[in-house]
Amino acid sequence: MAATAQLLLPTTPSTYHRIISPTLTIPTSDRAPVPVGLLACQRDPLLRTFDTEVHKACLSEANAKPAAKSGKKAVNAPTLPKGPILEVILHDTILFPEGGGQPTDIGIIHTKKDGVEKPWDVLQVKRHGGLAVHYVKVDGDVEAALQAFSPKSPVSVSLGAEGYDKRYDHMSMHTSQHLLSALLETRLDIPTLSWSLTTSPSPCYVELPRSMTPDEILSIQTEANRLVFEGRKVHVEVEELNRDTLPGTQTTEGGRFVGKALPDDYTGGVKRVIVIDGVDRNPCCGTHLPSIKNLQLFLLPHTESLTRSSSNTTSTRLYFLAGPRLITHLTSTHSLLTAISSLLSCGAPLVPDRVALVVDERKKAEKRSQDVEEELAKYVAADLHAEIEKTEKTLFVKHVHRIDDSSSALAFLSTISTHLAAKASTDKSYLVVLSSTPSSLTSTSTSVVLVFGSDEALVKKVGDQLKTAVGIKGGGKGLKWSGKFTGVWKDAKEGSAIQKVLESV
Ligand SMILES: [Zn+2]
Repeated sequence: MAATAQLLLPTTPSTYHRIISPTLTIPTSDRAPVPVGLLACQRDPLLRTFDTEVHKACLSEANAKPAAKSGKKAVNAPTLPKGPILEVILHDTILFPEGGGQPTDIGIIHTKKDGVEKPWDVLQVKRHGGLAVHYVKVDGDVEAALQAFSPKSPVSVSLGAEGYDKRYDHMSMHTSQHLLSALLETRLDIPTLSWSLTTSPSPCYVELPRSMTPDEILSIQTEANRLVFEGRKVHVEVEELNRDTLPGTQTTEGGRFVGKALPDDYTGGVKRVIVIDGVDRNPCCGTHLPSIKNLQLFLLPHTESLTRSSSNTTSTRLYFLAGPRLITHLTSTHSLLTAISSLLSCGAPLVPDRVALVVDERKKAEKRSQDVEEELAKYVAADLHAEIEKTEKTLFVKHVHRIDDSSSALAFLSTISTHLAAKASTDKSYLVVLSSTPSSLTSTSTSVVLVFGSDEALVKKVGDQLKTAVGIKGGGKGLKWSGKFTGVWKDAKEGSAIQKVLESV
């Protein structure tokens, strides 16, 4: 994606990953695998390929067990395809396992067994305790796959183009969230209750305990972009994890500390703090860009309120975009605006006025159409009335068919009946069937039928006969019966059938 290429930060500075404890070291390959917290993707978030070796692999039961074993909800977890999957632990990896609100990476592992290189798709990476487990798709023989991933086998891991774009987007949104939450807390004293890294290109959001005014939102956006323009650096400080010194849950309720509370099942033993120079320090396991210089945070200038019935609380969502996702958003917004201004034959700045005009004109046109229909209904009713008055028969019967593309054709027929009822004198008996079809007919077209007259029992009788003779579905009350016919209305078939019913009464 061109947008990503322009925003690419080529290499991670050597000062990015700082181990601040003299006793903490990164395990070498002859020892245990590198734990989550010290993974290559967490030390150098811009690495695209990486050589390492297999620690161990086994056949996954992920597809065998439908329910997730962990109570924690996965973030945008992919649906695994059917077929065998291997769970592979590498000595180290550049594929990030889902955590801290950041979804899993996808990528490719190249095995090199007996001089033959073979690529394997990594569908997702999950943290099991303190280790990153790669879910590798097996296309052929499971035994051969286990052979390719036998312990100590050399492998090369890569994000691939798709995986890198995805990761770059995740990093952009995640680092933006740290910046945004820090400013909300320090400038406006608004804690972040939670946040969501949604699937691209939807905006992500932070959940806040109160709504914000447009001025407040603009002030935070301006401040964020001032820091972005300065190109504040980001680095990570790492030390051994001592759960006793971590802030307690009381503190985490302050919300700013989203991600501060470590998952109970984390056994990697590492504490990571993400530092945005002069702005923020926040414990987090996610991958973060080494600088905020390309983020350009954009806040959607409104908040959306939310009521949780389970806890009877309300909160507010503030949506934001940054990096590649912002460019996608701008591109699609611009395309939409260009399409609308072309339809309206005006420049983009005139679009709101022009749309308001179109809406207003449409309202007036609808009103005029209703007035004209009302007037027309009176004439149709008057013609029918004249015929009823002229007839010598004891009962006047007639079927009138119309072609009408209105969405409320039945309402028009009903207006005719109302006007006729108002005119008809009590000593004349009549029964009229009105039908209306659209101008072009298909097997799913709906035609409407209205039966009305001077005798309630006769109206019901004719209505019931139309059900069986013409296949009209409907019902009625009093002096009116209405129904619908689905399909192609033919005068020679449906029209004649109605005529026959009328002749029989
Ligand atoms: Zn985070």
